[in-house]
Amino acid sequence: MPTDTKSRDNSKVQLKFIVAGAGISGLAVAATLRKAGHDVLVVEKSNGKIRSKGGIQSPPNMTKLLHKWGLGPNLKERAHKCDRFFFSNGGTGDLIGCMNMGEGFLGDLSADFLFLQHRDLYNMLYQLAVKEGVEFRFNSTIVDADNVAVSVTLDSEEVLYADVIIGADGFDSLLRQVVTDSGDEPPDVTDTHVIATFLIPVHLMEDDEDLRMLLNARNWHIWLGNGYVMNANMLVGEKDFTVTIIHHYDGPRYPGDLNWTEERTLESLGIHMKNFDPILQRLLKLATSVSSRIYVRRPVPEDFVCANSRVVLVGESAHPMLPASNHGVALILEDAQTLGLLFSRIRNRDQIPQLLTAYEEIRHPYTAEVWLYDHEQRRGMKAPLGPEQQMRDAILSQTMASGHWDHMDDSPVFRQVWGNELRLWTYDPTDKVEDWWGQYGSFIMRRHDRSSMEVTDISFS
Ligand SMILES: Cc1cc2nc3c(=O)[nH]c(=O)nc-3n(C[C@H](O)[C@H](O)[C@H](O)COP(=O)(O)OP(=O)(O)OC[C@H]3O[C@@H](n4cnc5c(N)ncnc54)[C@H](O)[C@@H]3O)c2cc1C
Repeated sequence: MPTDTKSRDNSKVQLKFIVAGAGISGLAVAATLRKAGHDVLVVEKSNGKIRSKGGIQSPPNMTKLLHKWGLGPNLKERAHKCDRFFFSNGGTGDLIGCMNMGEGFLGDLSADFLFLQHRDLYNMLYQLAVKEGVEFRFNSTIVDADNVAVSVTLDSEEVLYADVIIGADGFDSLLRQVVTDSGDEPPDVTDTHVIATFLIPVHLMEDDEDLRMLLNARNWHIWLGNGYVMNANMLVGEKDFTVTIIHHYDGPRYPGDLNWTEERTLESLGIHMKNFDPILQRLLKLATSVSSRIYVRRPVPEDFVCANSRVVLVGESAHPMLPASNHGVALILEDAQTLGLLFSRIRNRDQIPQLLTAYEEIRHPYTAEVWLYDHEQRRGMKAPLGPEQQMRDAILSQTMASGHWDHMDDSPVFRQVWGNELRLWTYDPTDKVEDWWGQYGSFIMRRHDRSSMEVTDISFS
């Protein structure tokens, strides 16, 4: 742990946090808590050098946070803007609809929908955390956590102590078991997916007239197929095209298949070409290496904070969503901003439970709702061919008929299809914390200096 006890910002008590996991969520929350003035140690089982080339999207709410964290220059270099998206039928290739992200409805978002790579986001957050003074222990696996002693035990048998332990250890979190009273709910093996993500060099697509049509850097393509959803876009620099498929999986299970691996082919993952339009089949055949992982559905746990308020969950350990949704990573960064903001206001150790309760009250209902929305959305998008799929395509097509949000109609159907997306894209965690603080902050601070009621913000420069 850092020995520097100098209080930073206006935090008057400096806590020790241990963050389990250096994924996107561990890095983000480590940076915001350090910015809030606390000592932060991140413990990560890998060597920290694994970088995924897979593409991810940054919706406006996430882009706004990344700018707030001073990462605008990195985004300028490593991300680019999405101007329009296309929905097509994966089996026939028929276009369902196209939407331009214009001004109008989205005009007040003040941030763009961006494309970037997982490894670039990882690098940005890692550098931010290092710059802020976060400490790291790589190649160290947490094998046990104790919420009474507030400690974690490493595979080396070393025990590390803190004031608060953060479970940022991902979809199949170990820390979740410490937080949930009733024990972690088992995953639902009847609802299993495989995620496969890969790159295709643009020059391999240029000779094929149909594939060349996909090569517009500002376009996001989404194909809705029989049992799968596939999305694709060009990466910054325009040398690579990234494709991600999320596909229903009922094939054999292998040891280690809950980790990302580059060892399996599309066929071995149960992704059969016959379910794809011939143009997509030609595209998929160009994939050289495939990065994949199996995901067995997990529910959102009942609690994010353990009974004695010393262990808290963030990221996918809190809301285990399948990747390849444009909301998953945004939720993770919002968790980090929320915790950082709350703990920038702590004035006394006794306030830890209250601030963790605040985090849970702000984040649990919202993320559980988004989790459910995302799950239902995905279920509908990969509906098998038949009446449900036909109805879905007809409604989607109707709401995208004008092709532009500037000219969208404000009908109940439009609201039903796009209302949630737009609501999520305008979520601002800073506002939510300030609302909460406005209502309850005075109760927390009543025994402390009133000047500490001043609103602070987490932004990096
Ligand atoms: C290697 C990798 C590549 C990925 N590539 C993509 C991609 O291309 N596209 C995409 O959309 N999503 C990708 N994801 C998923 C994406 O990171 C997640 O969807 C999302 O960002 C969740 O982040 P998280 O930090 O909550 O969880 P994770 O990203 O799963 O991070 C959890 C971290 O905790 C560590 N950890 C777990 N258990 C322990 C333990 N007991 N002790 C110490 N450390 C532990 C893990 O090693 C991991 O680094 C990838 C994830 C990983 C780990």
